[in-house]
Amino acid sequence: MEKKKIVIALGGNALGKGMAQQQEAVARTARIIVDLAQQGHSLVITHGNGPQVGMIQDAMESLTVVHKNYEQTPLPTCVAMSQGYIGIDLQNAIKYELLSRSIDGKVSTILSQVEVDRDDPAFKNPTKPIGRFLTKEEALENEANGIRCIEDAGRGYRVVVASPMPKRIRELETIRTLLRAGHIVITCGGGGIPVVSDENGKLIGASAVIDKDNASSLLAEKLGADYLVILTAVEKVAINYGKENQEWLTDLTVEQAKEYIAQKQFAAGSMLPKVEAAIRFAQSGKGRKTLITLLDKAAEGIAGKTGTVIYADGR
Ligand code: ADP
Ligand code: MG
Repeated sequence: MEKKKIVIALGGNALGKGMAQQQEAVARTARIIVDLAQQGHSLVITHGNGPQVGMIQDAMESLTVVHKNYEQTPLPTCVAMSQGYIGIDLQNAIKYELLSRSIDGKVSTILSQVEVDRDDPAFKNPTKPIGRFLTKEEALENEANGIRCIEDAGRGYRVVVASPMPKRIRELETIRTLLRAGHIVITCGGGGIPVVSDENGKLIGASAVIDKDNASSLLAEKLGADYLVILTAVEKVAINYGKENQEWLTDLTVEQAKEYIAQKQFAAGSMLPKVEAAIRFAQSGKGRKTLITLLDKAAEGIAGKTGTVIYADGR
């Protein structure tokens, strides 16, 4: 089989829920990753962090209640914490799996900062709900302090933050160097630590959450990857998803994908960012394809046997 440079974006189901479950979940995920490494592919792993960053934020907020001298932990710091503990669990699980197959492989986790545009319109229109559910009183108090809250599907109120587009991965050269040296690199967790740079080039943490599929697409583009593989909770992308006339898609050109987006076939915040990320990757260079499939079907999908492949016309 042809050896490829692959960016693998792991969805929530690859990490499980809670600390103990995460260790179990990553062991399974590691087997899937090492299967691909054994086929000779060069791999970069990215992952989501929605539930994890929410948990960290809650914990840090509780600290400010118990100890009045603690200040609020900035959101980008919470993202960095999540990259750290998810990264180390994945790294150890992959290393252990390599070891159990007597492979002397190298694995690294690179905490990464992803620059966003200060003027990104997303900052004026925060849409991404994070953290725990709040009472109406708490939400009103937040609003009075300039923290935007929304009413979330009848379940209570939640803080919403901006989800700006990733523009530049600051640790790209480090990631490239490790990849060249044969490492499996885990990076851009949770879409990366969002930063903006000031007039002097100093990086300042931004109160935002970058979509992990968008960050993965940018990473795949900048690394010149052959394949972006988005592993999630569905085997294929569908049109008329969840309806009687649902249809699973095997192949999808950029043109068709845009048409389906216009028809609102993909849910915002779940499948839509994946298809949009795939379109941008396909358009960034010749022959670049994205596979969207189930975590367990990764190898089959890469072999062309399942999943949905999104590509530019004339691949
Ligand atoms: P992840 O953690 O992998 O990013 P998400 O929940 O964000 O997972 O996105 C995957 C989910 O998108 C699927 O589990 C599915 O329920 C949902 N989805 C929405 N629209 C579609 C569609 N048109 N085709 C397939 N899945 C869809
Ligand atoms: Mg998602």
